[in-house]
Amino acid sequence: MAGSSARFAVRRILCVGRNYAAHAREMGADLREPPFFFTKPADAVCDSGTAVPYPSLTGNLHHEVELVVAIGTGGADIAAGAALAHVWGYGVGIDLTRRDLQNAAKAKGHPWDWGKAFDLSAPCGPLTPAAAIGSLVDARIELTVNGTVRQSATTADMIWSVPEIIAAASTAIRLEPGDLIYTGTPEGVGPVVAGDRMDASIAGLEPLWIKLT
Ligand code: MN
Repeated sequence: MAGSSARFAVRRILCVGRNYAAHAREMGADLREPPFFFTKPADAVCDSGTAVPYPSLTGNLHHEVELVVAIGTGGADIAAGAALAHVWGYGVGIDLTRRDLQNAAKAKGHPWDWGKAFDLSAPCGPLTPAAAIGSLVDARIELTVNGTVRQSATTADMIWSVPEIIAAASTAIRLEPGDLIYTGTPEGVGPVVAGDRMDASIAGLEPLWIKLT
């Protein structure tokens, strides 16, 4: 939690696939699809400043900067119009992806887990309470690698808004306090290698950085 030594008790991690049009296009996807989700284990979260060992089994590890929504109040079948009342706060996350394993899984119709849900695959910066921040509907979202901008967009480019994502997820499962939702990444994803430093930011939120070792 930003400005505090208290830690947000992470329960589950949900992630939205393809939620920015230009990124969906760069992945060759259909923009008209309803939102879909995959998950990561709760202990995939790691803090800003973590030294992340380059993961096993991959030669094509990708960064994906994302707005993270932290659920504070549970519910099922939440209406989009009521969804923001379920949000405790927001943070900056990176959905680390073993792209080669994800692409192989897609090609075979296999689950994405080994491409997405590996150890330390969900770096997350400090969470700021929703009440303490302004609007995030048109906020600059950016990721640099070793100081070079790789991803730079606005959250206004999200295909599905935060309320729509919460509404959609809560039709499938009951959301509970502690659930984190990674809301998808804008265009510009790409590979990182051992030694690279990633800095991720969203205007109005605490930044996140990690270093690959
Ligand atoms: Mn992602």
